[in-house]
Amino acid sequence: MSQDRLNVDGIMLFEQPFARVPYENYRKVFRSSQKNIEKELGAVQNAAKDLANKERPEDDVEATAKALDGMIARVEGLKRKLSDMQESAGKPTLDVMRERLQHLGAIEILESPNVPEFTRWADVRLDRWLVDWSLRNGKEKTARMIAAEKGIEVRSHHACVHCMASRPLARDIIKKIVDIDLFSDIRRIEDALNRKSCTEALAWCSENKAALRKLKNTLEFDLRLQEYIELARAGKTVEAMAYSKKHLLPWQETHFYQIVQAAALLCYRPSTSCGPYKRLYDPSRWTMLIQSFRLAIYHLSTLPTEPLLHLAMYAGLASLKLPACYNHETRNVDCPVCNSDLGVLAKEVPFSHHVNSTIVCRSTGKIMDADNMPMAMPNGQVYSKEVFDHMAAKNGGWVFDPRNPADRCRYTELRKVFIS
Ligand SMILES: [Zn+2]
Repeated sequence: MSQDRLNVDGIMLFEQPFARVPYENYRKVFRSSQKNIEKELGAVQNAAKDLANKERPEDDVEATAKALDGMIARVEGLKRKLSDMQESAGKPTLDVMRERLQHLGAIEILESPNVPEFTRWADVRLDRWLVDWSLRNGKEKTARMIAAEKGIEVRSHHACVHCMASRPLARDIIKKIVDIDLFSDIRRIEDALNRKSCTEALAWCSENKAALRKLKNTLEFDLRLQEYIELARAGKTVEAMAYSKKHLLPWQETHFYQIVQAAALLCYRPSTSCGPYKRLYDPSRWTMLIQSFRLAIYHLSTLPTEPLLHLAMYAGLASLKLPACYNHETRNVDCPVCNSDLGVLAKEVPFSHHVNSTIVCRSTGKIMDADNMPMAMPNGQVYSKEVFDHMAAKNGGWVFDPRNPADRCRYTELRKVFIS
C-alpha cells in the first residue's frame, strides 16, 4: 500500500450518505415544484383550449376577459408559490449540497495524506462521525455541542481557501455538514411512538408515500394495524371495524391474511393466551414499530444502519486484527484490537491479511528490525534486543522473561532470531 498518495476513492466510499441526504431533500422540493407546475399550467392550458374552441368569442367579451384574468392570476399564483418554495426549502438545501460537495472536493487537490490540510480535513470528518454517532444514540445535546464547538474550526479551515466575507455563521456551516435536523425529526417521531401515538409517524409516511411505495416498504400498514389493535384493546369494536374498512382494507392485495386475522382479533380479549392474538396485543410491537421506522427513514435517506464511525473503525480494525489479539498472553500494548473495548467491536470483522509483516515487540510495542533485533530466550520467548539490553544493564548481565520474571538467563545465552 502506498503511503504517500491519497486514496481518494477509498475515502469517498464512506461519503455517499453525506452527499445523498441533501440530494434526497432537494429531490422532494423539485418533485413538489413539478407537481405545482403540472397542476396550474394544466388548468391554464385547459382554459386556453376552451377559449379557442368558442365559436364566437367576440359575442361575450366580458366572459373572455374574465377567463384571461383567471389564467393570469393562476400563473402569478404559481410564480409566487415556486419562489416561496425556492426561498424556504430549495435554496437552503442547495446551500447544504454546495457546502458538502466543497468539503468533499477539498481533498481532490491534495497530493498526499501527510499534508496538514488533510489532517485538518480528517479532523472535521471525525467530528462529523462523532456527531453522527451521538445523534444515532439519542445524545442530541452532545451532538449539538460538538457541532457548535467544532463549527469554528470548519470555518477557519474554509477561511484559508475562500473569502470570509460572504461566509454564513459557523453554526450554519456545521448544520450543513451534519444531519442534525434529520435526526431531530427521527427523535420527535420516535418519542411519539414511545408515547403510543402513530400520528407523527403516519404523517411522515404520507409525506414520503411515493418513495416508500417504491421501496415496497409497509411501515404504513404496520402503523395502521397498531392503531386498529389499540381500538380493539380499548373494546371499541364498532370504531375498530370502521377503521379497518377505511385504513386496512386498501392493503388487502398484499396483506389479506393479516387483515383477516385483525378482524378475528375482535373476538379476543387483550388477556388472551391464544398465540397469534396474544402476539398482536403484545406491547412490544411498539418497540418493533420504532425499529421499522428507523430502518425506513435510514433507507430513504440512504444512511447506513450502523454509525459511520463504526464502519470506519471496522475497516481499520480488520486491517490490524490477528488471532493474537484475543489471547491475554500475546496482547500488544499498542494494538487497538488488543484493547478490550475495541476488541468487542472487532469481533465480527475478518482477520487481517499481511503480505509483508512487521514484527513488533510485545513488551514495548516497538518494531523489531535490524536496529532492534528480535532475541530468543532459551525458553523460546522472543522480545526485542532493546528490552534485554535494558535489563542486562540493570541486573549485571541477567535478563528475565517480562511475562514470567522467575524465568531468567544470562544475556549471553540469548540468540538472535532471523525472519525469513
Ligand atoms: Zn492486537
